[in-house]
Amino acid sequence: MKIEPLDRKGNTIKFRLSDSSPAFANAIRRLLFEIPTMAIDEIIVIENSTLLYDEILAHRLGLIPLTTPDGIYNLQEECVCSGHGCSQCETSLTLEKEGVELSAIETLYSRDLQPEDPDVKPVLDNVPILRFTQGQKVIVQAIARLGKAIKHSKFQSAISSYKYEPIIKIDEKKSEFCESLVEVCPPKILKFENNSLKVTESRICTLCMQCVELSPEPGAVEVTTTGKDFLFTLTSFGQIPPEKLLLKALELLKDKSQEMATKIQELSIES
Ligand code: SF4
Repeated sequence: MKIEPLDRKGNTIKFRLSDSSPAFANAIRRLLFEIPTMAIDEIIVIENSTLLYDEILAHRLGLIPLTTPDGIYNLQEECVCSGHGCSQCETSLTLEKEGVELSAIETLYSRDLQPEDPDVKPVLDNVPILRFTQGQKVIVQAIARLGKAIKHSKFQSAISSYKYEPIIKIDEKKSEFCESLVEVCPPKILKFENNSLKVTESRICTLCMQCVELSPEPGAVEVTTTGKDFLFTLTSFGQIPPEKLLLKALELLKDKSQEMATKIQELSIES
C-alpha cells in the first residue's frame, strides 16, 4: 500500500491511495470523525439584551471552528480533573459588545471573541454571530473544549471523499468517428485532435461511463479501474492542517487495529 500526495490548495489536499481496499479507504474517511478538535461547548451569559435568544447564540458560537493546538488539551472525560474542568481540558473566549450608534445596526463577528489562549481562536475572522443596535448589549464567556465529531458535528474537523482511480483507454483508430463524445463528457476531459480522441486529465473523470455507452463506435473508449487504487480529497475546516489530519487518522487506525488484535488474543487465551 502506498500514499502519494497529488495536490494541495488552501485547506484541501488530494492524494492517491494505491494497492489498498475500499474498506481501508473508508476507514480513513470515517476516522476523521474521531480526531478531537476544540469547539465552544458551554456559554455563560452574563448579559444578552439583543434579539437573539441565549440558546441560539450558544448554537451559533458552537459552530465556529477554533484552531486546535496539538497535544495541549485533554478530552474532558480523560482529564486529570475527572471532567470537572481545568486548564488542561478547557479554555475560555470572551464576547463583550454594546450597540452605541443611534439607528445603526452593527454585526458581531467571530473576530470579536477574545481568546484566553491565543492558540485557541476562531479559524475565520468574519463569521457573523449576531446583529444589534443602540442600547443592546451582550457579555458572554464561552468555554471551549476538545470533542469528537462522532458525538457532535461542531467538532468535525474535515470532509473527505474518495473514488476509484479511473483508467481511460482510447482506441485511436476507432475513435476517429467519436468526436461527439467531447460534448458528452460532463467534466469535459475529452478532446478531439488529429482525428482521434484524447484525454486531458483522467483524474477528473467521474466514471459516469457516458463515453462508453454513447460511443458511436463500440470499443473506442474503455473506462476501468483496478479496484484497489483510490483518489482521495480531504478538506480541513481549519482547526488542524489537512496533512496532520491524515496522519492522525492513520495513527488512530493503527491504534485501533492493535487494540483489536490484543482483544482477539485475550479471547483465544480465555477459550
Ligand atoms: S467516464 Fe464520464 S467523465 Fe469519464 S471520460 Fe467518460 S464521459 Fe468523461
